[in-house]
Amino acid sequence: MLTVEQVVLYDVVLRFRQPMVTGWGTLKKRETLLVEMRDTDGGEGWGEGVAFAAPRYSEETVRTSWYVLSQFLIPRVLGMSFSHPDEICAKLAPIRGHRMAKAGLEGAAWDLFSRSRKQSLAHALGGTRRRVAVGVTLGITEPRRLVDQVARYLEQGYARIKVKVKPGQDRKLLAAVRTRYPDVELAADANAGYTRQDFDPLASFDDFGLSMLEQPLAASDWLGHRDLARRLRTPICLDESIVSLDDARLAIELGSAAVINLKPGRVGGDATAVAIHQLCAEHRLPVWVGGMFESGVGKAHALALSALPGMTLPADLTASGRYWEEDLVNPGFSVNRGWMEVPDRPGIGVSVDRGALGAMTVSQQTFLAAR
Ligand SMILES: [Mg+2]
Repeated sequence: MLTVEQVVLYDVVLRFRQPMVTGWGTLKKRETLLVEMRDTDGGEGWGEGVAFAAPRYSEETVRTSWYVLSQFLIPRVLGMSFSHPDEICAKLAPIRGHRMAKAGLEGAAWDLFSRSRKQSLAHALGGTRRRVAVGVTLGITEPRRLVDQVARYLEQGYARIKVKVKPGQDRKLLAAVRTRYPDVELAADANAGYTRQDFDPLASFDDFGLSMLEQPLAASDWLGHRDLARRLRTPICLDESIVSLDDARLAIELGSAAVINLKPGRVGGDATAVAIHQLCAEHRLPVWVGGMFESGVGKAHALALSALPGMTLPADLTASGRYWEEDLVNPGFSVNRGWMEVPDRPGIGVSVDRGALGAMTVSQQTFLAAR
């Protein structure tokens, strides 16, 4: 049994090497929330609440996560004894929504649990792969610069190139990459930037032989995605739409998605992510782990999840130096010819560098179990 003695929240700011332009905004820094859980035996576990500073990708923000964690989620688990993280999930279930906040706390419990068993988180989640194929996501930029960036990442061996697109900045970017690299696995991510009026331009993406078109329409437009899927040869991948196991069922049943991008934060934690992976495997739907510009802690969780047997497409995981001037875990992550090794060390397989964490933390708060 593990008994939760203490939870610490850290509001952390990471700095991008270069601004990242997506369909919903330009990021120069990444504020994120780290969750540390300690038990009465001195064990530690780390999770990350992956909400952004502003509610653009999802409704949640770093501030709303902090509020819900401190007022509702952490009080439910302080002092609690558990033998498996599923018990933590069950305890958090009555609190509605706030999935990224929940996933941060649940993730810390999974890390604490797997470290205490001296097994890797990947193993604890049912992972079987020792290494995973990875792809890179490139922000919106000038076509010529984009092609230069693609050249660099292909040289480093990344297995798939994903390009962010938005209305007016789509065809010329995809055409530039496709003309230069006729055979590379190329995908586009629209981050819900298009509407039902855009079916003609979206259908024209078929020209580029994309492996998938990610989240073209609003997250709640299930029927729009279904109708668009009937017009396109390009498989539609849903990201923002899928925040629960029920959503995955709906997408499969309606035919709104041919592929699912799975992010443990977006769906409320590792346990739900594993369940969605299972459902996709039963329906032979390709699924892969997407990135949220996480710190090394969130990336370690995503890497562990990527080791599950049904994760059939390259994960959105990149080497430590790809986004950040400085990260906060040791060892860093590296990509070798398009593959990333899944750590077999206990838990998430990386340790948090307390010095780096201190330098990046803008506020922190400790919550102690009553004695
Ligand atoms: Mg996406």
